[in-house]
Amino acid sequence: MRKPVHTILACIFWMGCSFAQAPDLHVLPWNQHAAAVSLTFDDARLVHLDVAVPELNKRHLHATFFLIISKLTRIDDWRRAQAEGHEIGNHSVTHEHPAALSAADEETQVEDAKRFLDSNFNANVITFAYPYTELSPGLVFWVKKYDFAARGWRGDGDQPYVTADSTFDWYNLPSQPAYSNYDTAVYEGWIDKAMALHAWTTLQIHGIGDPSTGFEPIPTATFLTLLDYLRARQADGLWVAPFGEVAAYLRAEKIVEGAKPEQQNGEEKFLWEVPTPFPSGVMLKVTIGGGTHLRIYQGKRELHPTKAGVYTISFDSGELRVKAAG
Ligand SMILES: [Zn+2]
Repeated sequence: MRKPVHTILACIFWMGCSFAQAPDLHVLPWNQHAAAVSLTFDDARLVHLDVAVPELNKRHLHATFFLIISKLTRIDDWRRAQAEGHEIGNHSVTHEHPAALSAADEETQVEDAKRFLDSNFNANVITFAYPYTELSPGLVFWVKKYDFAARGWRGDGDQPYVTADSTFDWYNLPSQPAYSNYDTAVYEGWIDKAMALHAWTTLQIHGIGDPSTGFEPIPTATFLTLLDYLRARQADGLWVAPFGEVAAYLRAEKIVEGAKPEQQNGEEKFLWEVPTPFPSGVMLKVTIGGGTHLRIYQGKRELHPTKAGVYTISFDSGELRVKAAG
């Protein structure tokens, strides 16, 4: 890459500067994994507490539970699931088709559910799943105000697979629903495809086992095989994480990679803005090319790479500085 004249002049002026070129900040996709899969469970069904949570816990897997406020019982058990590392997401107050909602109802369905979840789970619940995966402009307006990411429909063709360089809508991220007549090969195929494409896919699960447990129940044996398969594929570099965790990483990745470095006092400074709302504490794995003996700082803290040259940076800090050492 050719260096702009003002950069060369700045380098002459700042004698300490030894950047061969502007440092290249690269975020490693999927938290330094090959691909990502999120499991999401809808509608606050009791089988999620009785079967899904314990089976996930046994395998050290974490998932997302999109709760309907009007259907919520056994709240202490849901709180325990949250404390065990599962994500609680907003699935509206009463789960209506958007066509049945007035403009005022659209706001209530998103906002009241969020307020209830925030206060009962002592959290900032900022992910949403559209009931029936149906979107309306009014609903999307409120979801954009109160959430940083939302789960939508599968899209066409390969769109249920989000690659790090695809274009996507944070407020309509794709997912693929489980159906009762799918056998284990279907789910293993989805996971294999995510791995092959280095992509992220989100599964949408309702009932498990008996038809009384929810919409299109996945047979229990199929569900357990799916969990075992996810566990096995983790050894090949699969990241299994809640929907909001993967969405936050991806959104932060896009923002940081869009930051253009500016030269200041002999160092290159990357600045970015953290959106609102957004989860706090997001950490990104990055590599920095464009020179040797670089020293990396966030605030007053110097960051140190792993042996493989990977730095862990804080997205919250909104800045990163690169100095050429010595
Ligand atoms: Zn639902």
